[in-house]
Amino acid sequence: MKKLVIFCDFDGTITTQDNIISIMKKFAPPEYLPIKENILGQKQSIREGVSDMFALLPVSLKEQINSYLLEQAQIREGFAEFVSYTKVNNIPLYIVSGGIDFFVQPMLEPFGPFSDIYCNESDFSGDSIRINFPHGCDEQCTNQGCGCCKPSIIRKLQGSDTLSVVIGDSITDLEAAKLADIVIARDFLIEKCEELNIPYEPFESFHDVMHILDAKLGVEV
Ligand code: MG
Ligand code: ZN
Repeated sequence: MKKLVIFCDFDGTITTQDNIISIMKKFAPPEYLPIKENILGQKQSIREGVSDMFALLPVSLKEQINSYLLEQAQIREGFAEFVSYTKVNNIPLYIVSGGIDFFVQPMLEPFGPFSDIYCNESDFSGDSIRINFPHGCDEQCTNQGCGCCKPSIIRKLQGSDTLSVVIGDSITDLEAAKLADIVIARDFLIEKCEELNIPYEPFESFHDVMHILDAKLGVEV
């Protein structure tokens, strides 16, 4: 029997909103808008687009951005129960996020520890915010430019006896969804799965996710 391994997105999946977009809406000049559209339309790589958007923000905003996010970010319903559920059922839970360490780490802290957290890193040492990408694309990634390359991480962590579950909401999850055995999707990722004929199960809360996984647990695939 195969063993489930979960790869869960952060922004718009664990949190109800995308934190990068929240930051840009509140703090960036309107120049961020075409960059955002280019990323969603796959006209610019995620890696380059995220760098370009953060380069619009002076590092002096750091404290304001942090307190704004921690104040307004909401964790999706059922997440704490879901984390316990994975522990009880011995299912590894990896957080794979195109988000940035300075908000991903503190928001997840109360719920951890996790099998691991993969995300991008921030550098506040210059004039504007710089983003570093320690989890880049491997040679097999057909996308190249993911930023935090979810398919590369999945390839690294999945064995021949694992069934990979990808939970996500948007374009940064698409390459991972193509590789996953089970896709649990909401929002824009649903549209992309429909468009590309990738089988998926829809979710809104983590209670839905647990119901979907219950049906998979103990089932020979
Ligand atoms: Mg997301
Ligand atoms: Zn990649």
